[in-house]
Amino acid sequence: MKVLVPVKRVIDYNVKPRVKPDQTGVDLANVKMSMNPFCEIAVEEAVRLKEKGVASEIVVVSIGVTQAQETLRTALAMGADRGILVTAEGDVEPLAVAKILKAVVDEEQPGMVLLGKQAIDNDNNQTGQMLAALLDWPQGTFASEVVVEDGKVNVTREIDGGLQTLALEGPAVITTDLRLNEPRYASLPNIMKAKKKPIDTKEAASFGVDIAPRLSVVKVTEPPAREAGEKVEDVATLVSKLKAAGAI
Ligand code: AMP
Repeated sequence: MKVLVPVKRVIDYNVKPRVKPDQTGVDLANVKMSMNPFCEIAVEEAVRLKEKGVASEIVVVSIGVTQAQETLRTALAMGADRGILVTAEGDVEPLAVAKILKAVVDEEQPGMVLLGKQAIDNDNNQTGQMLAALLDWPQGTFASEVVVEDGKVNVTREIDGGLQTLALEGPAVITTDLRLNEPRYASLPNIMKAKKKPIDTKEAASFGVDIAPRLSVVKVTEPPAREAGEKVEDVATLVSKLKAAGAI
C-alpha cells in the first residue's frame, strides 16, 4: 500500500512567537522553522507501517514556500521514499490545501493518507477532515493507534469520553494524535541518503485550485502578561484568600 503523508513547515515549537509590530501576524523573519510535530508523528507511523511490511512506499508532500523542501528532506531522512513540493507563497488555508491534496491523491492513488491532526501555527484542525470529505473516503481522526489487518484499518481514536475504535474499509484518511508514537531522530547516514532521494516540484497554480485567502486577520496580539503569583503559609490561608476573592 502506498501511503501519502502531507507535512507542513511551521514555526519551531520551542520558539516563543513574536507578534509583528503592526499586529498583522507572527514575525517569521529569522525564526527557526521545523516540521509540524503532528506531521512528524504521521511520518513516523508511515515508516513503522513500512517496517511492518504494510506500506510499500511513503510519499511526502508539502505545500508552501521553497524552503518547505527542508521539511520534506527531514521526512525523507526519517524514512520516506520521495517528496512532492507544491510551491505557494503566503499562508494557504486548509480548504485550498485539502483541494491540492485531493489532486495529488487522484494522481498518486495512495491506499492511505496520514496527516497531522493540526498544524501548531494556526491550530486549524481542518485539513484531514476536509480532504476525507472531498475524496469521500472514511476518516479516523485523532488516532492513538493504527493497525492494518485483513484489509481493514483499525483506528483507535481519542475522544472526550475515552477511546473509540473504528474499522475503516478501503482507502482512508487518518489524522495523528500525540500519543500515537514518538518520532525517531534521523541518523546522520540517513540524512546523507535523503539528499539523493527525489523531490518533485510543482506550482500550486498548476492544480487549478484557488488558493486566495478566504479569511482575513483582524488583529494578532500578545496574550496578556501573567500576573505574579503569591505563596501562602497553609491551606487555611489559601481557602480564606480564595473565598475573599470570590473564587469559591
Ligand atoms: P490544519 O488543518 O491546518 O491544522 O493541518 C492539519 C494537517 O494537515 C497538518 O498536520 C498537515 O499534515 C496537513 N497540512 C496542513 N497544511 C499543510 C501544508 N501547507 N502542506 C502540507 N500539509 C499540510
